Parts: sequence; structure tokens; C-alpha cells
Amino acid sequence: MITVDNLVDRAGDMLRPNMRFGVTGLSRAGKTVFITALVHNLIHGGRLPLFKAQQSGRIASAYLEPQPDDGVPRFQYEDHVRALVEERLWPQSTRAISELRLTIEYESASAWNRLLSSGKLSIDIVDYPGEWLLDLPLLQQDFAEFSRMAVSLARSPARIDLARQWLETATNLDVRAPADETGARGIAGLFAEYLRNCRSDERALSTLPPGRFLMPGDLEGSPALTFAPLPDLPEGSASAGSLWAMMERRYEAYKSLVVKPFFREHFARLDRQIILIDALQAMNAGPEAVQDLERALVDILSCFRPGRSNFLTSLISRRIDRVLIGATKADHLHQESHDRLEEIVGRLVSRATRKAGYAKADIEVIAMAAVRATRETNAKQGKDRLPLIVGTPMKGEKIDGKTFNGNTDKRIFPGDLPEDADSFFEHLHDTGTPIPHLNFVRFRPPRLERTAEGVTLSLPHIRLDRAFEFLFGDWLA
Ligand code: GDP
Repeated sequence: MITVDNLVDRAGDMLRPNMRFGVTGLSRAGKTVFITALVHNLIHGGRLPLFKAQQSGRIASAYLEPQPDDGVPRFQYEDHVRALVEERLWPQSTRAISELRLTIEYESASAWNRLLSSGKLSIDIVDYPGEWLLDLPLLQQDFAEFSRMAVSLARSPARIDLARQWLETATNLDVRAPADETGARGIAGLFAEYLRNCRSDERALSTLPPGRFLMPGDLEGSPALTFAPLPDLPEGSASAGSLWAMMERRYEAYKSLVVKPFFREHFARLDRQIILIDALQAMNAGPEAVQDLERALVDILSCFRPGRSNFLTSLISRRIDRVLIGATKADHLHQESHDRLEEIVGRLVSRATRKAGYAKADIEVIAMAAVRATRETNAKQGKDRLPLIVGTPMKGEKIDGKTFNGNTDKRIFPGDLPEDADSFFEHLHDTGTPIPHLNFVRFRPPRLERTAEGVTLSLPHIRLDRAFEFLFGDWLA
């Protein structure tokens, strides 16, 4: 229903010539590839049938402009696109925050909107590690609570073998003994190593704060990153000069020097957000990794929850009104499984939104591939048709005992997801039963296609146009 209030809101949106758009996801989820494909497709008039502004020919041009924040590194689009398109190599992944301004000149669809809008929208794309977002819940936790939660997660069956060395060393520490720097560095190093091992391809765990231990940015080696949670802290408080006091102080420094500024200067200024998740990697690693992904989604979504009780809302000035969860790398599956992936991730997100107390209305889930590295085919198997994908395996990939040189194509059966999401969730609860195993091959980025007239087409993708429509469509209406 149109009310005076939402007309005023709408007019306000249209008069605002720039949108701050956050792109996040855990390390290697696909942020760099997504941003590069987004810009490439918009600048080169990509094949985006479901992106209405483009499809109806209302976008006159799209181009890069200098970003407004001089203190933030620029997203190195040109280097990334060169790697992807010319060298057919995946670009260097996100290590810290970066920014890029893309300006779109367009014509609004209605006369009313044409009257109000400037016909120009600048999108400030802010790329930041999802690990940093998972730090925001720390703002609510003191050192004792952080220690309790970190230690209880570390003692869970999915993690205990990786945490053993850190936990044993930490349990033997006398927390009341005088603090010393070498001891602090030792225990922080063991804790960081445990977190890194949780992130390995085999474990693929997601809930691993503090985020800068995995993605230190320019803070590597600073005292604010040289601390660790302490197990089984006694009642009472830390005495001055003790190891306990030192760890507590550094944890608080981490919050005030790292988490709060990130929140204030970047997160709180966003209008729209995409969160990329590599659900396929988690599924392949097993039920614990999927459960951990769900836990991370609860933490992440609670950062976006609008409403009274959210500890962050008092600090947010511009509300993020739409969040897209992109289940990336869907080109590893045959299209028969794309809707299934969307359904499974959709259920994970609904469960997480319920737990996070978020009203689901403005969250959408899309199974997508920012860059489609595979084509589809099928093979006959008796009377059946076996859905296959074809791509160029990366140099050094081993399949069926053969090592690939990066120049030859290979057809593989990628495996498929269960037709009905219920059976997936039954597997998830019964950790004894493995989740359907998918056959993962790292493929090179694709060769760009040429039309009969010799025009080179932009990067191929899966459902990127649906993502654009949800994220930008109303601002270009
Ligand atoms: P980031 O750490 O989130 O910036 O992750 P990247 O964007 O660098 O992606 C990490 C890796 O995932 C890449 O090197 C690719 O191997 C793979 N990848 C990312 N996006 C896609 C995609 O759309 N399709 C395929 N096939 N692989 C992808």
C-alpha cells in the first residue's frame, strides 16, 4: 500500500544519488570474483535478462569513478579483470577492506520517477572480510564471556582435536602469575593456529572469532592481536599485572581499536548488503561444517536485525534494508541442482533468522555463480541421462589418477543434491550419515565467448541478474 510516509521515503531514496553496497563473506567465499563480475557485466552490457533496467535498455552507461574515501584501499578491479579474462586465472582474494565507485547513468521507468531522480546512481562497493563481521557480537561480550564461549566451542567434538594443543597449554597456565610478553605471544599463536586449522578445506568451519586472527589486515603482530581466551577462569577479577589482566586488557583493546571503528566507519554506513557463502564447501566437509555455517549465519544476521532490542541499532544511522545471501559457485553443480541448493540454503537462512530474531521479509537467497566456469552436457547411462559439467581443470588438479595441465577440458559428474530438502536436513541431524558427496574440481575461469559478428561477450554467470535486480532494481526504477 502506498502511504505518504513511504512516498516520502521513496522520494528520499531517489534523490540520494549514491548507495553504499557492502560485499562480504568468509575468506574464499567469492567476494573478489563477485565484484569483478558485477562491474564487468555492468560496464560491458552483460547478458542480464532478469535485471530490468538493463533488459529494458534504460541503462545508458556504467563506468568507474574515483571513490569518495581517500583512506580506504581501492578495489583493484583492473588487475582482477586482467587475471580473469586475459590469463584465465582466479584473482587475488580479499585480505582486508577495499572500495570502488561504479556510476550508472539511467532513465527511470516512470515519468514520476524521471521527475524526481537525477538519472545517475553511484554505487560505492565496499568489500570486507566476513570474519570482521563475525566480530560484531564481541561488542556485547566481556572477556570472561568471550573466554567461556570460545572454550566451549573448542571443546566440541568437531574441534577438540584441533584445539588440543592450545587448550592443554592454556589450562596449565597460572592466570594470576605476572604477565610476560613471550608467554602471551606463545598462547596467542597457538590459539590463532587452531582457528586457522578450523578454516582448512577439510573442516571448513565458519564461526571463528576474533576475525583479525584469520584476516589481520595491517594489525599483524600488534598487542591488540596478541591475546587468547583463557579456559576455566576463577571467580573474581584479574589482579593488576597478571597474565589474566593483560589478556583482558588486550581483548578490550581489540574491541575498541578494531571492532568499533570497523562498525562505525564502514558497516554502519551501508545501505545494501550481499553475504556470499560457500555452502557447497561446507556440505562437502560434512554435517559439522554445515551446522557451523548455520551458527555463523545466526551471528551474522543478528548484526542486520532491525528493531528495538538490537545492541547495534543505536549506532546505525543508515539502515540496511535488504540483505542478499548468495550461495556461490553454483557452477560446480548441474543446473538441475541449482534450485535445490537455493532451497537448502533458504532453509538454513530461515532457521538462522528465527534464531537471530530477524523478521525475514527483506532477506533473499539466490544460488549463483558470479563467474560460470563450466558448461553443461549429459551422457547416456543405460536408459538414463547423466547430467555432467564440462570445464578446464586448473593446472595440477588430479582426477582419476590423471594430473591436468590447465589446457584441456574435462567432463565430470558433479554429484547432485537431494531433490527434497527435508532429506538433507535429516542427514544434517544424524551426524553419523554423510551429506551427499559432491565431486569438486577446481576449474579455470572460462574463455569469453564471441558472437558471430566477432563481439566478445562479458563474463558468463548464473543468476547474477537476479541478484542485481534485488540489490539495485528499485533504486533504478
Ligand atoms: P574472497 O576471499 O571472498 O575474495 O574469494 P575469491 O573471490 O577470491 O574466490 C575464492 C576462490 O573461489 C577463487 O579463487 C575461485 O577458485 C573460487 N570462485 C569464486 N567465485 C567463483 C565462481 O563464481 N565460480 C567458480 N567456479 N569458482 C569461484
